[in-house]
This record gives sequence, structure tokens and C-alpha cells, in this order.
Amino acid sequence: MAQHDFDRIRRFAFERYPLRGHWVALDFAWRELRAHHVHPPAVRDLVGEAVAAATLLAGTLKFDGTLTLQLQGDGLVPLLVAQCTSDFRVRGMARFEGDPAVTDFRALVGDGRVAVTVDAQERAARYQGIVPLEGASFSECFEHYFAGSEQIPTRVRLAADAGRAAGLLVQRLPPGVGSRDVDTETVDALLAETGAALDALEPQTLLSAGTESLLRTVLGTYDLRLYEGHQVRFECRCSPVRVAGMLKALGADELHAILAEEGAVTVTCEFCGRPYRFDAIDVAQLLADGASPSGSIRLN
Ligand SMILES: [Zn+2]
Repeated sequence: MAQHDFDRIRRFAFERYPLRGHWVALDFAWRELRAHHVHPPAVRDLVGEAVAAATLLAGTLKFDGTLTLQLQGDGLVPLLVAQCTSDFRVRGMARFEGDPAVTDFRALVGDGRVAVTVDAQERAARYQGIVPLEGASFSECFEHYFAGSEQIPTRVRLAADAGRAAGLLVQRLPPGVGSRDVDTETVDALLAETGAALDALEPQTLLSAGTESLLRTVLGTYDLRLYEGHQVRFECRCSPVRVAGMLKALGADELHAILAEEGAVTVTCEFCGRPYRFDAIDVAQLLADGASPSGSIRLN
């Protein structure tokens, strides 16, 4: 595989039809991300697919900040979060409880919802969309998200294993984008045809092929224009200041109760496992000066 196909998201356009697509494959970024978690393989792969999905979604949207894709359900994975910033830094986490041998998607996620939020720098999160958790795979679930929330017919295929997480998305151009004069029926038929090709794709092909050979395999009958794309990398953006802000939201009573019982307030970042410890002096300071502990918080 060509070097420029590692840890990248690339966009492609259909030359003659109002369709576009995105491809992503995470290699080092994915292995670095998952090294912070101990999960059964099925849960690990689910996180990989969600991170690939969040990256694809970030590629399709215009925003400046962080996109968060969150699954909440009553299955064995009650919470899964995948994030991608507008400059393609990713992180992800999942909570898991129960039988590590379970691999069925529905059993893992249960009934619940998928929510996507986008928060611009220094502004409160706003909902991009929220849909029920539906479908037999994360790919299907993500297609429901596009249909229900973005109102853009979209076909997606996602896959992940220990070494790689990848995704391929094809969708109609959003209304008002492009001006190709093709009737709706033709575009619907094309998207159905493309979807069938994605369904037929072996996960291993999606995980191992470079962009060009993959697109030749899946969409070889169309004239496509493939763009260079962006690098994607793992990065956790947790910091003493952010953790202090989170603790402050718990309130003084709660923090004092934890201090009385345990001598310090300890927090472990669920994305990267980085430990944070706040003793009585740190807590007094964060409660006193509020949002900006200005480096006074000690990091273990
Ligand atoms: Zn972190």
C-alpha cells in the first residue's frame, strides 16, 4: 500500500453524477488509540468503526471544533464515544460490562440512540442530530443517522480489526452543492448500485486495500476524481484545566465528601488513561479561582 494511504481521509467525486464519497483508513492512529483500552475484540472493533465513522462525518461537514459521535444504549456497551476534530485528531472510548464473548452488534449496543454533537471552540455543544440505534451493524446504524438527521441519502461501509480501522462512504451531494443535471431516479439507482457494491465488499478488502485499488474494486465503472486528503492522528486533549473544570461542576459538597473519604480526588481520563490527582489544596484552589487553575493543579 502506498505510504500516503496510511492514516488518511480522502475525498472523491463522481465526474458525471451528483455523488461524492470519503474514504478513511487509520493505522498508527488506530493502534495508538486502542493501546489505551483493554476491550474484548468485538468491542475494540466497534470503537474502531465508530472512530472511522466520526472521521468520515467530520470529512463531510463544514465546522471548526470537535465532532462527537456518541452511542448510548442498554446493551453490554452502555456508552461509546468517538471524537474527531475539524483538523482530524481522533480519540475514542467505550464502557463495557458483561460477557466478553458476545459479538452480536444488537446485543452489544442494545436499544438506545446515536447522537452527534459539534462544539465550536469556546462555545457550547450543539446537536447536529440524534437518531435511534437501528440496524444490524454500525454501518447500517450510521446510514440511518444520515437519512434521519442529515437528510442526505448515504451508503457506508465500516470495518476494524486489531491493526486497522477503515470506512468508505458514498452520498448524494447536499442540496445546492454542484449543478450536475441528472434526474433523481438516475441518482437513486446509482446510489442503490453503489450500496450493493459496498455491501459485497469483504471487510478484509476494506481494511487492507489502498484507496485507488479499493475504489477500482468497488466503483471501477465510474469516472472518479480522487483528492489527496488529510492526515488523521490520535490525540487526547485532556488537560489539568479541563479536568478541573469538570470537577468544579460536581460542586464543593461532593468534592469535600470525596476528599474526606479518600484524601484526594482522582480522575482517570477515559480516552487515554492519563491519571489526574487533586489534593485538598488543589481542590480549594479550583473552587476559589474557578475556571482557570493556571497550572496550579499537579499532575501525577
Ligand atoms: Zn486523555
